[in-house]
Amino acid sequence: MHFFLTTIIFFLITSCSNNNGNSSNSEKSMDGEETCPTGMKLDGNSKKCISICSNDLIYNKITGVCEEPMKPLSCAPPLVFNTEKNGCICPGSAVKGDPAKDQNPGSCFCSYDRVFDLKISDCRCANESYVFNDQLNKCIPNCSENQEYSAKYNECIPLCGKKNGLVYEHSIKSCREICPDHFVFDAYTFKTCVADCKGNSFLDPKSIKQCLKGYSLEVYSYGVKDSILPLLSVQSYFYILLVTQNSSPEEIELFKTKISQALMAWLRPLRGWASVDFKTIFEYDTSTDSSTFLGQNRIGVYVFPKEITGNRPHAIGHSIYLYPDSDLQTYIHEFGHLFGFTDSYEKNSNPYRCKPGYTFNTTVMCGDGKELLPADIDSIRDLYCNIYHGNECETDYHLPLDPAITVSMD
Ligand SMILES: [Zn+2]
Repeated sequence: MHFFLTTIIFFLITSCSNNNGNSSNSEKSMDGEETCPTGMKLDGNSKKCISICSNDLIYNKITGVCEEPMKPLSCAPPLVFNTEKNGCICPGSAVKGDPAKDQNPGSCFCSYDRVFDLKISDCRCANESYVFNDQLNKCIPNCSENQEYSAKYNECIPLCGKKNGLVYEHSIKSCREICPDHFVFDAYTFKTCVADCKGNSFLDPKSIKQCLKGYSLEVYSYGVKDSILPLLSVQSYFYILLVTQNSSPEEIELFKTKISQALMAWLRPLRGWASVDFKTIFEYDTSTDSSTFLGQNRIGVYVFPKEITGNRPHAIGHSIYLYPDSDLQTYIHEFGHLFGFTDSYEKNSNPYRCKPGYTFNTTVMCGDGKELLPADIDSIRDLYCNIYHGNECETDYHLPLDPAITVSMD
């Protein structure tokens, strides 16, 4: 050992004697070729002469001396020695912590949703039943042979095979037949392909292959005289009395927005025929008894907590009663009553269901929607025609709606 060290020291002295040891600027020979002093060679990158190291030594560009290579044993686990880099690195796909960022720069870190596992000396998915997918750069479930990974659902799904006429149906978590044209898969009731009923039509309960035409909304038995629609003939705006208590200015703004949106929803199908250029004029009061304010041309909207109104949202005459947290769908339903339409659901039925001829998809007077549904659109147009055109109101006033379709599998 002593002999070995002496050799290195001797070597360093001789090789570095030229220019303070580190490197030497090259000298140009007569013919322009760059030359280095004996024991040195020209470094292609730095264009400087560097020491020629003996076999076992490696030139250190920073210190400028030939050094013994770092030994694998000197790497503290989990780091391992890498000859190419002549340094300690993390094994596998792990990377060493950044001294500038990480509290523990000697540790190994893994990208994506992986953790470093000392047992395998590599990164693995945090969830041990997952495998890392290089293309997706994420950990995904380890799917079995007759499954495939679905990025959409982030889970293994059965290989259905479109060739066999099957597709994966997430709602039933299995393969199903591909529905023919004009049919859709019904995941809730029939769990098979049923006729695709559009517009004011609904699936025939006796045959899932055809649709029946839905009914128009029923108008209150006392006729249209109490509908607020005729108000538009005497004024071009709705005069609204908003009655509420202890509501903040923000809440009041929200009530006003929902009132306007609900009115717009009902009047939108009339655009193009009537100049329904309405605006709303609001008045406020905090009294629960507003009978003195409600003239013939006014709509009352009462927004009170359950404890005060006691009843669920409802409509009487030209007034509707709502809770502070009633949603737009509820406003639209209650305004439907103000326009003169009755409820399309069975009273006191359990479970809740629509009257025959109506479905959740055809009217907001049974289902709910942030916009009118086909039977509602049809009915508000009919009502408008009846009020303003009487008997002359025929097909001219019907804008095209999706007709009820009847389709058959055979
Ligand atoms: Zn109702």
